[in-house]
Amino acid sequence: MASKSTPRVVIVGAGFGGLNVARGLARHSVQITIVDQKNHHTFQPLLYQVATAGLSPGEIAAPIRSVFRNDPNVISLLEEVRDFDLDRRLVRTAEQDIAYDYLVVAAGATHAYFGHDEWEPYAPGLKTIEDALEIRRRVLLAFELAERQSLSGVATEELNFVVVGAGPTGVELAGTLAEITRHVLAHEFRSIDPSRARILLLEGGPRVLPAYPEDLSRSAEQQLHQLGVEVRTQTMVTQIEPGAVRAGETRMVAPVILWAAGVAASPLGKKLGVPCDRAGRVFVQPDLSIPGHPEVFVIGDLASLKDHDGKQLPGLAPVAMQEGKYVAQLIRRELAGQPREDFRYWDKGSLATIGRSAAVAQFGKLHISGFIAWLAWLFVHIFFLIGFRNRVLVFIQWAWSYLTYERGARLITGDTTLPGWRGMYPAETPVPPRAEEKLPTKAAS
Ligand SMILES: Cc1cc2nc3c(=O)[nH]c(=O)nc-3n(C[C@H](O)[C@H](O)[C@H](O)COP(=O)(O)OP(=O)(O)OC[C@H]3O[C@@H](n4cnc5c(N)ncnc54)[C@H](O)[C@@H]3O)c2cc1C
Repeated sequence: MASKSTPRVVIVGAGFGGLNVARGLARHSVQITIVDQKNHHTFQPLLYQVATAGLSPGEIAAPIRSVFRNDPNVISLLEEVRDFDLDRRLVRTAEQDIAYDYLVVAAGATHAYFGHDEWEPYAPGLKTIEDALEIRRRVLLAFELAERQSLSGVATEELNFVVVGAGPTGVELAGTLAEITRHVLAHEFRSIDPSRARILLLEGGPRVLPAYPEDLSRSAEQQLHQLGVEVRTQTMVTQIEPGAVRAGETRMVAPVILWAAGVAASPLGKKLGVPCDRAGRVFVQPDLSIPGHPEVFVIGDLASLKDHDGKQLPGLAPVAMQEGKYVAQLIRRELAGQPREDFRYWDKGSLATIGRSAAVAQFGKLHISGFIAWLAWLFVHIFFLIGFRNRVLVFIQWAWSYLTYERGARLITGDTTLPGWRGMYPAETPVPPRAEEKLPTKAAS
């Protein structure tokens, strides 16, 4: 047990940032309390695999409690943090106030619908295990409903899958959906042909993967085409309704619409009462603390910081991890009477997967595409997964599905309806007319 004078470190959020702070302090003489609204750490880069039935939730998440099983100075609390009292050094949850000497806020980001929160029920985003399971449900259900409709001899719904936003998440979702329709499900239905499903990736800007160099964007778009994805750049979505997307004057029916177009920082950032950027990220000092409170740190997706070249640090796992390790080291050093040093981000490169054997990678000036980039992506993601068991399981699952095209987690659970699905029309009833299917290639708003 910690003595009364043992410094208390409270960490809000056990994502990549928070987990690394706790790991960096766990074997030291501090009392650590991790507060998270989930009981598990989620390896977000593999969420799309759960959403597309390649992996099960337990393979990409780890109970926080089990991660710190052997660290008696780490307490894990399943609670939502609501507010802070920085003057009295308290973290506020619905049920209690938790006192701290050091506070690390690592609450990450959420989806942003650019002021159209009403779109969310029709176009879920991908951030949590729950989101991934909902997407999986919708994707698999669309095929089941289409088969049922077709076997009943009624006019069949068109299987359009629209992904909005061509950043890394949109690209990997679209690429994997194409793989499912072309290979995984292709021979399992009797009345419909899943391989005729259309996968559309809509992007408001001029190119996919806009944060990557142009040559890699071009290569990614080419690889998407090869996988069977229709890419529409400069296509601004102006409306989402049940089972349909509008881009300007054009309306497209789509039983499954997925949102990968925007993120905003956790609303907890604003509760700290210090300046935030337009996305709600907290402007932090070079030592990741907030102005006026050297004992309070904000890290990961919730922090806004520029690197030494003046470039905004991206919302990526390595940034959150390095910031977490840095804050743990800073606290250790400070408790040992040593001065603070500024945080420096070491950019080791970036990788984006597109689908089977398709990816792009940038390591400094070296740009790679295709199979080699995909292998690099695969090994990096297995290496950084939390827990040895998960690494082994994911490796086996991937090897198996690479050889057989099988996806082992194709379960539909929960509701068996889709927003806007037209249901059973008698055979003689024509399918209700719909607008031109081609979406414009110019920005529509
Ligand atoms: C689908 C997807 C794919 C991605 N792919 C990649 C990739 O390939 N490579 C890459 O580098 N990055 C990727 N990222 C980004 C990366 O996951 C984030 O940059 C990283 O998770 C940020 O870490 P974090 O610790 O700041 O926040 P998170 O990892 O998001 O953790 C935040 C934690 O805070 C908790 N929390 C939030 N609010 C509260 C509250 N009020 N009370 C209590 N707990 C709270 C949450 O439950 C969560 O556990 C991806 C993200 C997503 C969503």
